[in-house]
Amino acid sequence: MNETTRNIDSDTASGSPEGTTHFGFETVSGSEKVNRVMGVFSSVASQYDIMNDVMSGGMHRLWKRRMIATAAIGAGSRVLDVAAGSGDIAIGLARKMGPTGRVVLTDLNGPMLAEGARRVIDEGLLPGRADCIQSDGTRLAFADNAFDCVTIAFGIRNFLDIEAGLREFYRILKPGGQFICLEFSRPVLPGLDVIYDAYSFNIIPLMGEKVTGDRDSYQYLVESIRRFPDQKRFDKLISRAGFDLVRHDNLTGGIVALHRGYKV
Ligand code: SAM
Repeated sequence: MNETTRNIDSDTASGSPEGTTHFGFETVSGSEKVNRVMGVFSSVASQYDIMNDVMSGGMHRLWKRRMIATAAIGAGSRVLDVAAGSGDIAIGLARKMGPTGRVVLTDLNGPMLAEGARRVIDEGLLPGRADCIQSDGTRLAFADNAFDCVTIAFGIRNFLDIEAGLREFYRILKPGGQFICLEFSRPVLPGLDVIYDAYSFNIIPLMGEKVTGDRDSYQYLVESIRRFPDQKRFDKLISRAGFDLVRHDNLTGGIVALHRGYKV
């Protein structure tokens, strides 16, 4: 089995700047990983939305719609969308909550958060219904027990220390609050893994090159997906951070999983 086809269970759920970790299939120092992840998102920020549609054939919109539908929020709720990027989830949550809800978009990467800010302004959500605050998901700049719901879509895979991120999400949630995470996972339908691997490793980097001129960032994307813990292992990490009632639903045969947990 070669590096591109084997399923690698992440051995890097917790990392530190001084130790070694993985950037895709490469072994790098923790601080180098953070710098290179930021380089990837700075490079793709302006083309990020179009590439999502191209790569997923529009499927990401359905996955995100399902996440927004799962959020137990309504009028007056306060929600944090971590690794918000260009704001798809935050905007959907703001629409669901209506005028009395408030969503905070946070992201470590300035150019990605700027895309999100531009879109929430276009939606008429600023000021009042949305805020954009740059912060690291593993060291959030928010008080304890501040939010009714914390969401993260396709972001936690990029964290240097996934478990530190999960502990932060738990800390800032109010008791009774809900955590929802949408992330790439492991195909569970027989035969889907072979087709998915062939598509991921042969087509996606090529699309990245054609659409954005940046093959390497999309090579990192597919490698980082293989490094991320599978559904059950990630559920265990969520539980270990303190969450209760942890479960996941597989979407599109497990290509993506929607995880949730509660701060009881
Ligand atoms: N949530 C958006 C979506 O679903 O379209 C954006 C997802 S994008 C694939 C991943 C995002 O994670 C990027 O905007 C990146 O800057 C952000 N990110 C990576 N590491 C982060 C960290 N440590 N803290 C906060 N955001 C981070």
